Amino acid sequence: MTRTFVDLNEIERARAAIAATVRMTAVNVSPSLSDLSGVPVHLKLEHTQLTGSFKLRGATNAVLSLSDAEKRRGVVGVSTGNHGRGLAYAAKAAGVKCIICMSRLVPQAKIDGIKAQGAEVRIVGSSQDEAQGEVDRLVSEEGMTMIPPFDHRKIIAGQGTLGLELIEQVPGVATVLVPLSGGGLISGVAAALRARRLAVRIVGISMERGAAMHACLQAGKPVFVEELATLADSLGGGIGLENQLTFAMTRDLVDDVILVSEAEIAAAIRHVYWQERQIIEGSGAVGVAALLAQRVESAGPIVTILSGGNIDMQQHHRIISGEDVDVTQEAA
Ligand SMILES: *Cc1c(COP(=O)(O)O)cnc(C)c1O
Repeated sequence: MTRTFVDLNEIERARAAIAATVRMTAVNVSPSLSDLSGVPVHLKLEHTQLTGSFKLRGATNAVLSLSDAEKRRGVVGVSTGNHGRGLAYAAKAAGVKCIICMSRLVPQAKIDGIKAQGAEVRIVGSSQDEAQGEVDRLVSEEGMTMIPPFDHRKIIAGQGTLGLELIEQVPGVATVLVPLSGGGLISGVAAALRARRLAVRIVGISMERGAAMHACLQAGKPVFVEELATLADSLGGGIGLENQLTFAMTRDLVDDVILVSEAEIAAAIRHVYWQERQIIEGSGAVGVAALLAQRVESAGPIVTILSGGNIDMQQHHRIISGEDVDVTQEAA
């Protein structure tokens, strides 16, 4: 059974709800990418969002949508990445308790990243499943609310606010490039753009290694996809075999999906640093990667979303210095 899609009303309500917590991020024209593409290319600088990614939008909307009783009992999550950071910040801003559960194997830098946003970190067991077990316990025994990273109406509506912003900032946009993993961002952005009836092409961009949504679209249903190490680490992981919303929304609202290689992602991180003077993570660079590889055709202005900036600065330094950084030999 497919639930009704998130609509413009829900996205507009999300925008009003999160306005006090979330930053409206700027858009820059990229001269170098515009020259290369033959049409204006605009970069939506969402890596300058508080917490370093758009995940704050959805997380804030989800937290603020809870009842007073739910807020008193608090929220939990398992994400060690951008959703965890966003959720931690959103909860703190709303005065809501937040516990992020993770396994002993999570690197200290990620733990520190979550703690820095004000959440309690609970280390349990030595696998993601054991961490999930603790989340389930907190939900069933302590009445806390689990906030998932993408397949949730309030999350999708919150991410959709980015779509409303970019239509106002680039009214003539013809093509939007959206980094794609679980599909919360692209579902929200596509719902906003389609509701405004713009004749706009919406293109999801994923990495070749472990492109879960792409594999599911090809299979015609949610399927298991193995997670592989990649420079676009925020795009890893599956869409959930019980996916309720983002699979159908992506299938029905998105025009195309493009996959980019590790070398193309590294080249994009490098280009954005030296040409645009911006520090972005691999997952935020995939749209630029597709543009640099000249894989995007557009008759009019393009917007590409630089979706996040949380990259290890040692790794970033090696990439922009021209070293050949290969993460594919590491465990995912
Ligand atoms: C989560 C994330 C994405 C993908 O968002 P989905 O809603 O899972 O498709 C893209 N870029 C960054 C930086 C992210 O953190």
